[in-house]
Amino acid sequence: MTTTGEERERGFDHTEIEPRWQRTWEDADVFRIADDETDPEYVLAMFPYTSGELHMGHVRNYTITDAFARFERMRGESVLHPMGWDSFGLPAENAAEERDTNPRDWTMQCIESMREQLKEMGFGYDWERELATCEPEYYRWNQWLFKQFREAGLVERQAAELNWCPSCETVLADEQVEGEAELCWRCDTPIEHREMDQWFFTITDYAEELRAALDDLDGWPNNVREMQRNWIGKQEGASVAFEVGDYGAVDIFTTRLDTIHGATYFSLAPGHPVAQQIAEDDEAVAEYIEMAEDADEDDLDVTSGVFTGEYATNPATGEEIPVYVADYVLTDVGTGALYAVPAHDERDHEFAEAHDIDIVQVVEPTDDADVDPEDVDVQDAAYPEDGVLVNSGEFDGLTSEEARDRFVEEFDGEHRTEYNLRDWGISRQRYWGTPIPMIHCDDCGYVEVPDEDLPVELPEFVHTTGNPLDAAEEWKQVDCPDCGGDAVRETDTMDTFVDSSWYFLRYTSPDLGDAPFDAERASDWMPVDQYVGGIEHAVMHLLYARFFTKVLDDLDMVDGVREPFTNLTNQGMVLGEDGNKMSKSLGNGVSPQRIIEEYGADTARLFIMEAAQPEKEFAWSPEGVQSAHSFLQNVYTLAEEYADGEVGGEARSASETESAGDADEIADYVAREIDATAAKATAEFEDFRFNHALQAVREMVSLLRRYREATTPDAETFERGLTTAAKLLAPVAPHVAEEMWDALGGDGLLAEAEWPAAEAPDGYDIERRLVENTREDVRDIVDTVGIEDPQTITLAVAPAWKHRVLDLARNADGNVVGTVMQDEDLREHGEAAADFAKELAGRAQSLDEQLPPEREREALERAAWLVEREFGAEVVVQGPDEAAPDLVGKAGPGRPAIDIAE
Ligand SMILES: [Zn+2]
Ligand SMILES: [Zn+2]
Repeated sequence: MTTTGEERERGFDHTEIEPRWQRTWEDADVFRIADDETDPEYVLAMFPYTSGELHMGHVRNYTITDAFARFERMRGESVLHPMGWDSFGLPAENAAEERDTNPRDWTMQCIESMREQLKEMGFGYDWERELATCEPEYYRWNQWLFKQFREAGLVERQAAELNWCPSCETVLADEQVEGEAELCWRCDTPIEHREMDQWFFTITDYAEELRAALDDLDGWPNNVREMQRNWIGKQEGASVAFEVGDYGAVDIFTTRLDTIHGATYFSLAPGHPVAQQIAEDDEAVAEYIEMAEDADEDDLDVTSGVFTGEYATNPATGEEIPVYVADYVLTDVGTGALYAVPAHDERDHEFAEAHDIDIVQVVEPTDDADVDPEDVDVQDAAYPEDGVLVNSGEFDGLTSEEARDRFVEEFDGEHRTEYNLRDWGISRQRYWGTPIPMIHCDDCGYVEVPDEDLPVELPEFVHTTGNPLDAAEEWKQVDCPDCGGDAVRETDTMDTFVDSSWYFLRYTSPDLGDAPFDAERASDWMPVDQYVGGIEHAVMHLLYARFFTKVLDDLDMVDGVREPFTNLTNQGMVLGEDGNKMSKSLGNGVSPQRIIEEYGADTARLFIMEAAQPEKEFAWSPEGVQSAHSFLQNVYTLAEEYADGEVGGEARSASETESAGDADEIADYVAREIDATAAKATAEFEDFRFNHALQAVREMVSLLRRYREATTPDAETFERGLTTAAKLLAPVAPHVAEEMWDALGGDGLLAEAEWPAAEAPDGYDIERRLVENTREDVRDIVDTVGIEDPQTITLAVAPAWKHRVLDLARNADGNVVGTVMQDEDLREHGEAAADFAKELAGRAQSLDEQLPPEREREALERAAWLVEREFGAEVVVQGPDEAAPDLVGKAGPGRPAIDIAE
């Protein structure tokens, strides 16, 4: 594009300004935070998995934290806003296979390119704190922490069911098992389930605290807290013992001890020791157990089970009931044994029907239940609700609750609490993870790798059908640290959720060589104040991180930090243009790279933040992108033109506007709007409602443009409007904002400038409502009456006595008219006051507060220019004494009377 000598192209070129400001910020260390900083605001996004490319979900996630971090920095906070890489995991092994490289090289390449993309987005991170979990400098501390946990009694070997490919002779991850047929991903052989010993963190030791502390996490979304509560699954109940044949007492756990008289059979999980004993002498039971162990958990058939020939004695009735082995009873839930009450449990009911077992009702609805006892037929369907006991001998008539309490003592039971939460199995039979720092010696058993030998580094990657660590013979063979004899390294690596359970602590001292983190600094800087990431991490990552934090506090490694994240936000999804999840197969994906190239990072950031509140999903919209881009160009151009002395150029003549009131009054109006916008934007940023803040900024910019068109603006006010716009946009569209700031001659960098003072003028909201309602009323009249060319618009403010009536009506308890007519001053207005009081009484629910008459008049005079511009008419604002009596008669507080002359 060519430009003549006089004219030059307006607007900014994002390909030029964005890299320039990124370099400037970096050179000025804007985002660095010194180690000796005291308790900075800690703003954190869940670090990305190193897949190679940023997608729109990342861009949204990081735009939210970056905007908030920049906002807090401008408000004078020191801000910790780091970034790192969740870089271990199976996908890197797969990628390495596909590309004939190794996971390390592949991952490093991904990090390079993702870092580049993050920088192009203008995200302000303290890159000196960058970390990657696949680096030995990081994962050595996973190993060291594992040992600390083990010494604290929080690591156990437990049996767990694994996927086993008999052809490859290897354990497979769940992701390596394909389809419903469960085939090995490499050789398509149907996989088997095998019980093997694995390493576990005993997170269940913390089940109660993890659950109870959720109540105090006020800064977390309720749905996440509820998901964690359900995952932990606390059940209050009782245990009692049943004598089973010659096998002695077997404990059961139940939350419904009140139904014990209705127990008609007894069930053991296939893994229960008594079931295993019975199987030794009973072929059918043995066969069933083998079959059940091979079946996948999802195949659980509620009715599958086998009668053992044994009987259990019900301690409540003395009756003998048949004992079954059934795989719907889970070995690791409760005690792995239960008594079954088909009348009051749906699962038991189904089983009883299939096996022709008696169904005996022992609870019926209470009198005040929704169900009539006559309508309950337990032969037909279970009645699982609480109620009143029947068929329970001397206990008939007790409520379920009373019975539960009483029976614990009556039948020698005890109160017990159970959790659904299981221990955390961290063993993975893969290469690309943290080697578990254990050595197995035939003589000494499992021995820890001594601290001085940490880290246990990964050996060279080899392509193999199984676990590459298993194939690394030289790496595997070591001397036993205890006896010096031949020993073998553990070849399992850690679940990558271990890496992400404490990385937020490492950011406080990322280069520390002799501890995972600096205890004193971590204690001061933690917890994370704002944590933002996907809802898919509601349970695992967020629960494990909470568990780690509690353990580290108990190990005195941090001081008094029991929860890692004070406030949590789960950003919603960015959908494709068609409203579907972005996916390759639908071809509806949008590449951040392409948007950055075409429109620039600021446009992408602004569009994403304007589209919806962070928690809500939204669909990508080319029009929305275009609108964000035009807005940025326009606001920048406005600043550029002002800086070039072109302000007021569009006002045709001063006299055109002078009639609408004094230029001072217009400036006053604009000044109030600027203050109000800063106040609103600040409050909305604080609440993470960025879209509302940005809407307010757009309105203010549009007002500035109208101001410039209406008159020669007051320079100070206009410039303050522009610098305020730049500041309020700085968190979201930092490059353009910085460029504006520069054009306006701002001091230093905008990224480090002071956030605008944020106080809305007194009574502003009422005033704004008055002006908006009045403009709307004028519009209505013009439309309804069909006025083509209004000449004069007269606005008459209601007299003081009507304001008095309103005040009384707002405070009257019911009797508005009576209250009003008791007022001596108002009585002199006689019928008019009574009529007005009646009118107000009719809408007593919505009597908003209004400005006093004089303030109302001032507000209308300040805003008159807007009405004048909109309708091309002269606007006259009159007080109650100046206006014609019949016009004033129509005016009410907050609703001036309007007369329009053609
Ligand atoms: Zn295989
Ligand atoms: Zn040994």
